[in-house]
Amino acid sequence: MRDYYPPIVGKPIFDRRSYRTGIGFDIHKVSDNKSAGSLMLLGLEWEGYAPLIGHSDGDAAAHALADALLSASGLGDIGSVIGVDTLEAKNISGEQVLRTVCSLLADEKITVVNAAVIVMCEAPNINSRRAEAQKILSDILDAPVSVSASSYNKIGDIGNGRAIAAQASALIHFNPPAFGGRPFKR
Ligand SMILES: [Zn+2]
Repeated sequence: MRDYYPPIVGKPIFDRRSYRTGIGFDIHKVSDNKSAGSLMLLGLEWEGYAPLIGHSDGDAAAHALADALLSASGLGDIGSVIGVDTLEAKNISGEQVLRTVCSLLADEKITVVNAAVIVMCEAPNINSRRAEAQKILSDILDAPVSVSASSYNKIGDIGNGRAIAAQASALIHFNPPAFGGRPFKR
C-alpha cells in the first residue's frame, strides 16, 4: 500500500471519471427443510442452518456483491449477464457467480478497488466468521471486501428467520482506452 501522496499541484492526480460506484441487493427465502442441505452465505457453508431457496445456491450475499460489481461497471446485473435460468440449470455456487462476474470485469480491463456487503438476518451469527468471509471474498475479487451484519429486530420475514437479505456496494476503476480499457460512458 502506498502511504505517501504527493501534493496536488495543477491538475488532479487522478481522473475521477475512471472511478465508479455500484450497489446490489438480494433476498432469498430460508427453506423449511433443514435436511435439504446447508446454508451457503458469503461464500461459506454454514452447517446446521437451513439452506436458502432460489436460483443457484441462494447465496444472497454473493449475489448482492456480484450485482454491485456489475452496477459499478455498467454491465447490467446477474439476471442480464449470467441469466437466472442459467443459474437454475447449472445450480452454480455464489463463488462461481462472483468468479464469472470478475472475469467479465477483467475482460473490460476493469479493476475492483474495494467492496462492502451487509447481511440482514436473524441467524447465523455473521460476526463469528467475519474474518473467514472477508478473506474468501477478498481472494475472489482480488480487492478488500468488508463484511458486516445487521439483525432485523424481529420485523417481518427477515426478522423472524424466514428470509435472508444482503446489500452491497463496490468501487471499480476503468482503465483508460490508451491502456486497453473501453471509452468512458456518461
Ligand atoms: Zn440470489
